[in-house]
Amino acid sequence: MRNETKCIHKGYEPKQGEPRQLPIVQSTTFKYDSSDYMGKLFDLEAEGYFYTRLQNPTNDSVAAKICALEGGVAAMLTSSGQAANFFAIFNICEAGDHFIASSAIYGGTYNLFGVTLKKMGIECSFVDLNISEEDLEKEFRPNTKCIFGETITNPSVSIFDFEKFAKVAHKMGVPLIVDNTFATPINCRPFEFGADIVTHSTTKYMDGHGCTVGGCIVDSGNFDWLKYPEKFPGLTEPDESYHGIAYAKKFGKGAYITKATAQLMRDLGPIQTPQNAFYLNMGLETLHLRMERHCSNALAIAKFLKSNDKVAWVHYAGLPDDEYHDLAMKYCPNGTCGVLAFGLKGTRAQANKFMDSLKLIYIATHVADGKSCILHPASHTHRQLSDEQLIEAGVTPDLIRLSVGIENVDDLIDDIKQALEQI
Ligand SMILES: *Cc1c(COP(=O)(O)O)cnc(C)c1O
Repeated sequence: MRNETKCIHKGYEPKQGEPRQLPIVQSTTFKYDSSDYMGKLFDLEAEGYFYTRLQNPTNDSVAAKICALEGGVAAMLTSSGQAANFFAIFNICEAGDHFIASSAIYGGTYNLFGVTLKKMGIECSFVDLNISEEDLEKEFRPNTKCIFGETITNPSVSIFDFEKFAKVAHKMGVPLIVDNTFATPINCRPFEFGADIVTHSTTKYMDGHGCTVGGCIVDSGNFDWLKYPEKFPGLTEPDESYHGIAYAKKFGKGAYITKATAQLMRDLGPIQTPQNAFYLNMGLETLHLRMERHCSNALAIAKFLKSNDKVAWVHYAGLPDDEYHDLAMKYCPNGTCGVLAFGLKGTRAQANKFMDSLKLIYIATHVADGKSCILHPASHTHRQLSDEQLIEAGVTPDLIRLSVGIENVDDLIDDIKQALEQI
């Protein structure tokens, strides 16, 4: 199946007489006939559902669909994108460990890595997206456990150079983890370019309707944990809390997701509710159609903004003269996403006047759903960051982030036009 067909059919395949639409299994628990069998479930000796904090059939179907779209071997849903990125790191890093992340990432992830994980004893070095291979290697320490980046950075919409980061990660014996939220597997499949683990905030395009917060982690199964047993003891050595199971030995390519489910989800609990997973699945069924429209609308608007005198600059990798156009052609040849960044000439007050004058496009912290919306990261999502951190994250003080929806593009351009005339 190609991805468009997978959006519709993967994950849930009903048998004779079963509901055609994905059922919402609204049950915390599951019934068994023998105490012995239940014991086997707890020991991960038998497969089956026993408690929704660990696994639920609705969630598993949706995770399986995303797994198929990414071309992975195992996946799990989480309550949010934040929980997905936290688990992705915490599944292989513990107090005393270090990892490397591109500094051009979502503000919430930057905070999680730089502040909250630090309090847990995990240190993150942030590096420039355009760092050379040699300099990236120099960032490695004996306790470095992974590299992290975003396919298309939020909000600066730059493109991650997978081959460069994957080459260094693998040379140094660590996995590459990539947040693929903005591209979605419709426009980029990071595993094809060397990423080992992919995360998503499904809150964005995958849901696509702005109705459910959620996340997902997908494992390619390609990273060989057993090759570096001393570096990843959590996966290669016996887990005391699971009667001595060594995940990598027992579950092979499924080890990473099994550990994240059996250990992290069990102990920390940020599950997606089955009801939300159902909504997410509805969104996924039209993801391929929506991404096409998001990209064509965004490209038309980027061109319009670029030609307007009141606009100082526009970043959209789909524009042929954009700094990231070549990387976009290499990794996302069918389009990037609906998000673009631009700056206006003039003062901050004029930029605010512009945003306040929009009638159809509304101000919201959200991005990446069917309804166009706009935001000024330096005053909104990224306001906790210092000026220096803003620059590192690729956020200039004048950057306006426009998330282009799937409306008629001429209506959107008319709205932008009239708001520009107000300043
Ligand atoms: C929104 C976002 C997140 C965080 O996801 P939530 O679902 O809001 O917790 C992580 N990464 C990227 C790229 C995002 O855009």
